[in-house]
Amino acid sequence: MDNISFKDLLNKVTTYIHNETDLKRIYEAYEFADEKHQGQMRKSGDPYITHPLHVAIILAELHVGPDTIIAGLLHDVVEDTNVILDEISKKFGSDVAGMVDGVTKLTMMKFTSLEEKQAENQQKMLLAMGKDIRVIVVKLADRLHNIRTIDAQNPEKRARICKETLEIYAPLAHRLGMFKIKAELEDRSLRYTDPDMFKKIEEDISKTNSARLENIDHIIDEIKAYLKEEKVAPIEIKGRVKNIYSIYKKMINQHKEFEDIYDVLAIRIIVDTIDNCYRVLGLIHAKYTPVPKRFKDYIAVPKPNMYQSLHTTVISSGGLTFEVQIRTKEMDNVAELGIAAHWAYKENVTYSKEKEQFEIASKLKWYAELLKFNEEDKDDSDPKTFVDSIRKDILTTSVYVYTPTGDVIDLPKGATPLDLAYKIHTELGNTMIGALVNKRIVPLDYELQNGDIVSIRTNKNSQGPSASWLKIAKTTHARHKIKSFLNKQNKDILLESGKRQLEEEFQNQRIYNYDLKDDFVSKTFGKNNINSLNELYIELGKGTLSEKTVVNKYLGEVKKDKETIIQQSIAKFNRNQKHISETGVIVEGLSNPQIKLAVCCNPVPGDPIVGYITKGSGIVVHHADCKNLANLAKERLINLIWDNNITRKYPVALKINASNNMQLLGDVMTTLSSLNINVSSLNVKNNINTLETIIKIKIIVLNLADLNNVIANLKKISAIHEITREGL
Ligand code: MN
Repeated sequence: MDNISFKDLLNKVTTYIHNETDLKRIYEAYEFADEKHQGQMRKSGDPYITHPLHVAIILAELHVGPDTIIAGLLHDVVEDTNVILDEISKKFGSDVAGMVDGVTKLTMMKFTSLEEKQAENQQKMLLAMGKDIRVIVVKLADRLHNIRTIDAQNPEKRARICKETLEIYAPLAHRLGMFKIKAELEDRSLRYTDPDMFKKIEEDISKTNSARLENIDHIIDEIKAYLKEEKVAPIEIKGRVKNIYSIYKKMINQHKEFEDIYDVLAIRIIVDTIDNCYRVLGLIHAKYTPVPKRFKDYIAVPKPNMYQSLHTTVISSGGLTFEVQIRTKEMDNVAELGIAAHWAYKENVTYSKEKEQFEIASKLKWYAELLKFNEEDKDDSDPKTFVDSIRKDILTTSVYVYTPTGDVIDLPKGATPLDLAYKIHTELGNTMIGALVNKRIVPLDYELQNGDIVSIRTNKNSQGPSASWLKIAKTTHARHKIKSFLNKQNKDILLESGKRQLEEEFQNQRIYNYDLKDDFVSKTFGKNNINSLNELYIELGKGTLSEKTVVNKYLGEVKKDKETIIQQSIAKFNRNQKHISETGVIVEGLSNPQIKLAVCCNPVPGDPIVGYITKGSGIVVHHADCKNLANLAKERLINLIWDNNITRKYPVALKINASNNMQLLGDVMTTLSSLNINVSSLNVKNNINTLETIIKIKIIVLNLADLNNVIANLKKISAIHEITREGL
């Protein structure tokens, strides 16, 4: 039997609320709820009012304002009694009514089923949530009490509620930085979702660590004495065991055994100032051996949920590994209460909902993002995608990475540099050519780790995303952006190929001076809903229309004697024949030779060239200095010249030797894009021993003068020692 009464709530509330009017309103809300829930019972057999009372007490422990306490007391009256919102609004104000409405809707949503119809409600709900974050806080308090009393529920409902708690509510609490509530929600749910593992970990902690725990007490004493010697007076030193669910997650995700988890035990040292945080860190590292790569400075760079602390893992002289967290009292409050610590109710301060929202949004990056996300994406995606992306991108476990300028960006676990690029900006993603993580080049599918410093390399002339990127990107957001790029590109490809097919058909029929116009297309094919030349090309590319039909219609349309057109065309063809060679190379005495440019030395106009007559596959054009010429039969070489009127561009391969330098690749790419030079392939090798970097790059140039200009500009980059052309 639960003997809770209003007095218990009052005791909590009066620790920080003293205003008579506020206390009176809270009491009225209690009386109202008590009356309305009269006769209703909890599954446990207790009177229903015990539930809202507990919820209000949980809220009071978070030091929320009177309106939120009242909303906690009233949160179930609309759903479970005949009270309508209007009545609440009149009695307790529109703010309270708004919160009660939000919590009621949130309660009706089952997040575990994602059917289309429900998804739409969920979208509306999440939007509502975005409007007043206190709704989530009340809902979390509600869920916490329901989980505390879940024993009374039947197994099916228990399973559903626990699963939903782990998937939605615990991550939400984490997002809000409410670690105490998060840990309790997790551990209580895990007890039912994976009872065997829960029991095992619980036993492991008490068994293997009872010895360790004694040691921890000993170490705490040791640290206390040590800090006293060094004349630092900590406010508090305490030891704690990590919560069961986070140990569970580490074991599952990282395939670790219980014994392999370092930070099961942690010691928290709370000091008065930030200066002393760092001082204590130095002292701890002097006394105990730090474990490499385990130090984290969340004071300089707070987590997105505002968490600040120094973390390090050290080994005691007895061989015990434990984590040390060092922070100020203020930081500790934020760590325990999260967002609630920030808005902790202060008397005699006038609050407005808008002011609170603004302050929270400016502190909590992800929350601002949620609001932004609502604005940007609500129209162009269906509700299911919307909810999916909220679940995947915002609610799942995060990794925190840094940009080179020190901004923290959080991404769902498993995210790659691609996801990061698209999260920062669509254009950054679309022009991305690679990434550096902690100054090393990584593949695009590299899985980002906490604390990675990531810089995205781009090239304005990059080919853009390819279909394979869809497999690499983990966030819905990035995949969405890649897909829309590919859709557009597909259209371009269809258009190009349709255009080519039509050109070929005209050429097959020996018609060279045709003049297709949008007018002709809409007149002829308008009935097929094709109204412009571009649309015509796309249909040809798809194959829904044949190029023969188009050519025949065209010939009919111009109403000219087919014979005349052909005659004129042949004349023009003959005049232009010299320029037909696609390579830009002229072979004297041959009217239509088959010519290819050598891929070993990539000659460009202006280079001295020679031709090699192959057995059966035409003439291959080499640079006169090509390494391979020595191996070729001299009698098959012929002299060639470049045409004077070349409009196409040529690939050329360069090898750049440079010293290892974080800026290098960026400088090279910037230089090339400032010269408007396209890059067709890029390969970078870093030699960590010699500190040398070799970049092999294929660029597209007009001619030798263009190439020499590029090389001269690249040589201005101080890290570059040498640039050579490949194959010479
Ligand atoms: Mn409830």
